[in-house]
Amino acid sequence: MALEALLWDVDGTLAETERDGHRRAFNRAFAEASIPIHWDAATYADWLAISGGAERIRAALLALDGVDPPPEQVSRLHRRKQLHYSELVASGVLQLRSGVNSLLVQARAAGLRQVIVTTSGRRAVGALLEQLLPAGEPLFAFWVCGEDVTRKKPHPEAYSLAAERLDLPPARMLAIEDSVAGLEAARAAGVPCLISRSHYGGLEPLERFSAARAVLSGFGPAAQVLAGPACPAGPVTLSYLQALL
Ligand SMILES: [Mg+2]
Repeated sequence: MALEALLWDVDGTLAETERDGHRRAFNRAFAEASIPIHWDAATYADWLAISGGAERIRAALLALDGVDPPPEQVSRLHRRKQLHYSELVASGVLQLRSGVNSLLVQARAAGLRQVIVTTSGRRAVGALLEQLLPAGEPLFAFWVCGEDVTRKKPHPEAYSLAAERLDLPPARMLAIEDSVAGLEAARAAGVPCLISRSHYGGLEPLERFSAARAVLSGFGPAAQVLAGPACPAGPVTLSYLQALL
């Protein structure tokens, strides 16, 4: 089966956005509102189980005070968090993970279609892509974002929508994800999935990724295959991705 499309997750897959971006943005929003919540990198792992920024803020305030916070407070904090995230991204704190740019360029040169499949907000995705992949020919045919779906990952809706728009059999696509929720979303939509484990994805036991075609520690020259076919050529290439289908 020929590989015709790559479906890229954003957070954790293109860059370590959760640990280095979103987490810090939440902390800044809490601090400026004098709310005594600060998530270090280890603590934040627990809060990642709650999908969605507003949902995460609501749960944190509920845990702090023992009462459901007013919706206006949650939405105000969430708006501030989003602003801080955009500012952090624009300040250059995030970089593409090793090997990602090379794969994006190889795939474009080979004529593969590439799309974004995330359930994060379109504004955060836009800020990140503008900073990390500026100028040049657009790499992605389209983005599926949180605003386009009613259910976030691990629900398969985002992948089903992307597959429909690509108008290809799912077996000719490869999803690239970093997390168990992302893998589950792709799998439930019938899209084969490769895992490039991020900081937080790396805290999950390897067995939880058993539905993936392969599990890698990343794409760069130092990347290791943790499960699946060996990649003898060193850095991950398109022919390796092709062989996973
Ligand atoms: Mg992710």
